[in-house]
Amino acid sequence: MNDKRNMPVFEKPRVAASSGLGAYGNIASVLSALNLSGVAGKRILIKPNVGRMTRPNSGVNCCPDSVAACIDVLSKAGAASVAVGESPILGVDVMAAFEACGIAEAVRERGCDLLDLDADPPAIVPLPAGAVLPSLKVCGGVRKFDLILSLAVMKTHMHTGVTLSLKNCKGMLYKKQKVALHQLPDDGDPNADAKPLDRAIADMLTVLRPDIAVIDGWIGMEGLGPGAGDPRPADLALASWDPVAADATACRLMGIDPMTVSHIRLAAEKGVGRAEADKIETHPSDLSGCQRPFKRPPTELALAFPDTMVYESGACSACLSTTLLFLQRFQDRIADYRLEDGKLHVVLGKDVEDVPAGTIVIGNCAARHRAKGPFAVGCPPVASSIYRAVTGRDPDGSTE
Ligand code: SF4
Repeated sequence: MNDKRNMPVFEKPRVAASSGLGAYGNIASVLSALNLSGVAGKRILIKPNVGRMTRPNSGVNCCPDSVAACIDVLSKAGAASVAVGESPILGVDVMAAFEACGIAEAVRERGCDLLDLDADPPAIVPLPAGAVLPSLKVCGGVRKFDLILSLAVMKTHMHTGVTLSLKNCKGMLYKKQKVALHQLPDDGDPNADAKPLDRAIADMLTVLRPDIAVIDGWIGMEGLGPGAGDPRPADLALASWDPVAADATACRLMGIDPMTVSHIRLAAEKGVGRAEADKIETHPSDLSGCQRPFKRPPTELALAFPDTMVYESGACSACLSTTLLFLQRFQDRIADYRLEDGKLHVVLGKDVEDVPAGTIVIGNCAARHRAKGPFAVGCPPVASSIYRAVTGRDPDGSTE
């Protein structure tokens, strides 16, 4: 576990990229293009994206061949040990998820440990310079390792723009601490230029900075990522000792300006790494063959819900996306909450003047209507927490 005191600063970090070699070949190629002398003799934790129970190569979890390549290259570079561990979203049995997506088999074949990071007691880590949080509850087992390799699937994310090696580190937060980051109230800071969620992720990265970033773009996800988007086969991988540089470069290849992704911009401002293109050395220097535009999360609510009245003004894409996902998933399960006109009514955004009684109020920006109906707190709230606010019940315990 890193903290600000030992965050390495690379003047011009190298980001290696590879495409067209398949999942295993791309990852092996990009890791081998880094200087791995710092790996020798180290106990290394690979933290892959395995948040959900899915089949292999669905674009949700990492590809098993990508995990296998990381283990093989690190072992060959002299690592003392390599383990693979994850703290998944609530309600997911991580060991079953490792089995379902094929990673368990790849890890077993190589004689490495497979870990449920929630199994050890948590560590409370203070955030003295935290903009949003005073401390974090981190999976205690992470402290047993010398180096962390964050292995992220290349995805867009409906709440944070993208989820890459930086955001993937949220999967080292202990159990419900992950959800808590989605439920932070608006702190009223007039100087804040990002949502509390993005600021909290940047805070987290000052104590949970991955040492090595690897981005698995064999099959990524676009649109309503991280769980409800479309698989995006991209046959691409990136790696760097600077996770900000890795994520910023991945964004550029996805057709996204990394400076518009708040948690990446804030992480760079906090010194977690470099985001500016002219401060990064790419390998190869010409990445034109690696461009893979990804569809962004939706920015307006599709009128695909004729039984829903949406009051929206001044909402950002995160609340729009979460409302869309909520309606997609749960509209049929909350038919009893329709008003006299036979429709569900939902409000989001800060600029809606008035709504009828019984309207579902989504997100902190719409809090002034909270007396009118069920209020889902959060910035943004996740779809399952909107369902919980409406029904008082837990759908499946999941978060997004
Ligand atoms: S619209 Fe939703 S996600 Fe956007 S700032 Fe407001 S509460 Fe947060």
